[in-house]
Amino acid sequence: ALAPHISRETLEYHHDKHHAAYVTNLNNLIKGTPHAEQSLEDIVRTAPAGGVFNNAAQVWNHTFYFAGLKPGGGGEPTGALMDAIKARWGSFGAFQEDFTKCAVGTFGSGWAWLVKTPEGKLDLRSTSNAATPLTGADTPLLCCDVWEHAYYIDTRNARPKYVENWWKVVDWTGVAKRFAG
Ligand code: FE
Repeated sequence: ALAPHISRETLEYHHDKHHAAYVTNLNNLIKGTPHAEQSLEDIVRTAPAGGVFNNAAQVWNHTFYFAGLKPGGGGEPTGALMDAIKARWGSFGAFQEDFTKCAVGTFGSGWAWLVKTPEGKLDLRSTSNAATPLTGADTPLLCCDVWEHAYYIDTRNARPKYVENWWKVVDWTGVAKRFAG
C-alpha cells in the first residue's frame, strides 16, 4: 500500500523477513528467563548491551517505524505539532532539510528520530545499530530506518532518494498524537 514510494518487495523483506527475524531471535533468547515476563519496552529499557537488547530494540524500533507510515501520507502536519516545528526550525522546509541531513548523515546502520525532549521541545537524534531514544529521557515521535535493508531493493545505494520517498508516506496524524500525549 506504500507503493510506489516504498515497494511491496522492500516491505516483504523488511517486515516479513528482517523484522520477523528480530521477533523470532528475541523470543528464543528470552525463553525461560525473567525477560519473558517483561513488556517489550521494559526489556529494551533494562537489558544490558548484547543480543537480548539488540533484538528487543530492533523489534521496538521497527514496530515504531512501520506505525509511522501510511498510504497517502506525507505533506505537512497542522496544529500544535506544526507550531512546535516552526518554533524550533522556523519553517517545515527547514525542519525537513535538517531531518534529511540527520538521516542521510547517520554513519552506517542506524536510525534518524524526531523526539520530544523532557522540556516539551522538538529535536533530532541519530542512533547507531539498534540504539533507541526509548532508553533515554526523550519521547520518540517519528523515525526513519536508514539500515540498508530499508532501501537497497528500491534505491540501491541511494539513501537520499529513499529518504525523499519516505517523506511521502509519513503519517503526521500519528506523530501529532504522540506529540500531544
Ligand atoms: Fe530495518
